[in-house]
Amino acid sequence: MIVAIDGPSGAGKSSASKAVAAQLGFACLDTGAMYRSIAWRALRDGIALDDGDALGALARTEPIDFAPGEDGGPQRVFIGGDEVTRAIRTAQIDRSVSAVSAHPQVRAALVDQQRRIGRAGDYVVEGRDIGTAVFPDAQVKVFLTASNEERARRRVAQNEARGVGSTDFKAVLADIERRDAIDSSREASPLKVADDAVVIDSSSMSFDAVVAAICDLAGERKAGR
Ligand code: C5P
Repeated sequence: MIVAIDGPSGAGKSSASKAVAAQLGFACLDTGAMYRSIAWRALRDGIALDDGDALGALARTEPIDFAPGEDGGPQRVFIGGDEVTRAIRTAQIDRSVSAVSAHPQVRAALVDQQRRIGRAGDYVVEGRDIGTAVFPDAQVKVFLTASNEERARRRVAQNEARGVGSTDFKAVLADIERRDAIDSSREASPLKVADDAVVIDSSSMSFDAVVAAICDLAGERKAGR
């Protein structure tokens, strides 16, 4: 079974996905971490962010791997054997990743990897195009969103807790709005609500209520309703 959770940055997808996966006994796939890893390698290796062919080749050849976090910490992320768990959460990656993810060559390569991983078991998969493009037949599709200000507040709190990324509210809000604009207007699999997705606006919902709503949906679909 695939539970697809899409939505803009800072809507709470990561924490909700983790909690839903834990409750359902599913694994969790953070597809944003994969695009971030490609952006990290591009910056490290001096690959231009507008060179779709070179970035696509990177995405096709460099394996991206995940490992469980230590002491309940965030899931560990590796690209080509290098651990990038923290390095992919910096403000520099926030600024670069949408340019990288807009290239169809990069998307094709990463979507292949995502399908291979997701088909191996029961997964909660979070991203921007999971319900629309990666797993259009997902049994559960959620579009999780929240107001821009609320998303920026949450992202600042998350960056503070992780000790990485910007904690300047105005800068984070500007980045979120800029990334939303690029992610929603790109030609290749833009961020949009799948026709059959359930939209959850978490602006004034508690975290537990969001998790319960998604788990209820999964329970209904499992029961064939
Ligand atoms: O979810 P996160 O903020 O980590 O995603 C980082 C970026 O990766 C997004 O802004 C978007 O450009 C890209 N992304 C994407 N498709 C996905 C997941 C993430 O284009 N499925």
